Amino acid sequence: MARVRTGEKIMLTIPLAKSCIPIGGTRYAPDWESEVKLSSAAWQHSRLTAAAEALFAGRECRVSEGEGTEASCYELHWGPQEERLESGTAEMPEVLPPQGYRLSLRGRTATIASGDAAGLFYGIQTLRQLLAGLEPGACLEAANVVDWPDVPLRCMNYDLRQTFSKPELLVDYIETMASFKANALLIEYEDKFPFAEEPQRAFRHPRHALTDGQLDRLLEAAERSFIEVIPLQQTFGHLEYVLGREEYKHLRETEESTGELCPSRPEASALVCGMLEELAARHPRSRYLHLGCDEVYSLCECAVCREAFGGSRNMAFLAYVNRLVDFTCELSKKPIIWQDVLAECSDEELALLDKRVTVMSWHYNGKNVSRLVTPLLTRLQELGVEVMGAPSVRCFDAKDDQNYPLVRERLANIEQWTAIAAERRLCGLVGTNWTAVFSLGVPYGVFETSWYTMACFADASWNRKRGSGANGTSGRSEAADASSGSNPNGSSSSGQLSPPLPFIDRFLHVFHGVAPETAERLLGNRDDEDYYSSMPKLLDAVTRNAGVARLIAALLDFERAADRSRTIHKYAYRRELYPDSEPEWRSLSNNYRITREGLRRSRERIAEELRAFQPDDMAEHYVLSRFYLHDCLDERLYREMGLRE
Ligand SMILES: [Zn+2]
Repeated sequence: MARVRTGEKIMLTIPLAKSCIPIGGTRYAPDWESEVKLSSAAWQHSRLTAAAEALFAGRECRVSEGEGTEASCYELHWGPQEERLESGTAEMPEVLPPQGYRLSLRGRTATIASGDAAGLFYGIQTLRQLLAGLEPGACLEAANVVDWPDVPLRCMNYDLRQTFSKPELLVDYIETMASFKANALLIEYEDKFPFAEEPQRAFRHPRHALTDGQLDRLLEAAERSFIEVIPLQQTFGHLEYVLGREEYKHLRETEESTGELCPSRPEASALVCGMLEELAARHPRSRYLHLGCDEVYSLCECAVCREAFGGSRNMAFLAYVNRLVDFTCELSKKPIIWQDVLAECSDEELALLDKRVTVMSWHYNGKNVSRLVTPLLTRLQELGVEVMGAPSVRCFDAKDDQNYPLVRERLANIEQWTAIAAERRLCGLVGTNWTAVFSLGVPYGVFETSWYTMACFADASWNRKRGSGANGTSGRSEAADASSGSNPNGSSSSGQLSPPLPFIDRFLHVFHGVAPETAERLLGNRDDEDYYSSMPKLLDAVTRNAGVARLIAALLDFERAADRSRTIHKYAYRRELYPDSEPEWRSLSNNYRITREGLRRSRERIAEELRAFQPDDMAEHYVLSRFYLHDCLDERLYREMGLRE
């Protein structure tokens, strides 16, 4: 029998499976030579045959003779023909929830069964993660896995307003999102949408608008990966790229509101409806169309609106939104709006909202998200309005020049929202992943640094009760070994016999190929908040997504250099106090020399790593945003002081 390593434990997946029961201390050794058989329902589903072919590259996939059962007609069997599957344990629900699957691993055979195509796809994703962590000849504990999601719609987010990843990477990343079992993707294109119709054709970004081909590839990748794209078209606020143009300035609510539309102008509605029409047509498979409608600060300030709505911001909002909802429904899309203004509406006003809309409630900060959002969610649900929640995996966090997500805040926000989703039975959660406050803002971090918080969001919205956040891994392997022969009925509430490894260990294993023993050896005590700060110590051990690891390490290096550079401007006052002192001058110039060199090195390092992910001019934009102040001080203050030749 092949050896089993601690790092090859069955529970090392993202998301963590709901229930994983080891089978009596036995092993599963993949039979790499076996052919792959799909039930006829699965065989006829092109997305499933493609997923199976991607997993079992080079091996033959065939249709099996058996039909499966009605409850699990989507089946995959990989192993010797003589080993028949024996799925099911005392714990397994008779009927799996939608998107659920059973995975059985024993002997030399893996079988996956599901009642729907998505479920089989997610079973394949689990098997794929397990096999990716195996060395040739190694094996896993034999186990029965039963798994299904807590939140039906688990949505990731592309924000294309500011700096973002190269178009080909945007396509590749969809597969990674699906491997974490995300099943939707909210895309805010802004001026990166390849508008073809007049007048919006003029809004296309001159360099970074996606081409038709790039958008096709993006949408095809999403379709292949069971990911529903939700296009977002701003229709009220955040329209700087339109209203910043001289010819549309007159459609602003006020001259100062550079991105906010006046809802009383027919020309404004016509413009927005034209854009919605084009987005709807380009996303024929999408059920939803997001209309934005957040942060409309200047609402009802113009004379026409004040007159028309008696000065009521809420009535102005509702009247405009209801018109948009009606228009969007006629396009056969279900409209979504952010909740902002609705929270201020009275019960009478809220009752006027068109019930066909879906309201997305966003709240990213603090410890009391539930207390803040529940009143409105309850009122909307009582009116029969569908609601979704929006935590954030990357957002302002009072620090818009952050280089990677503020992990403590983001993990806490995700945990709170998954609890709210369970309590309020929300149909979906979106892990918003913002690139800047707004189009004219400073870029927040870099998309690639948010894989950790994205994966945490996927993990939590699939399996909220997974145990996580405990320190270290010591004792885990013994617990797992001791439990593997025990009675399956002794499982905990989450169905796990042994305590699952903390999220950071599972992420390092799945995303970076770092085994838990290696993380233990290199990091020692650690918890889920230590991912970013741990990266320099892990660089040599990383075998997957090494570019992401190097980028994070480069950004940390910059932060150290930038922190240190404050020594110069902190001590510059001493030069003014003691202009004739040679030791004071030495102290200052020594500090200047060292910190300037540190900044120079980190600048080159960031630029190099970033160019792997972003178009050159976006990478340059990012670097300048971080070094602008340092450059200014250098050019002005330090030159004037004689520090710089
Ligand atoms: Zn107005």
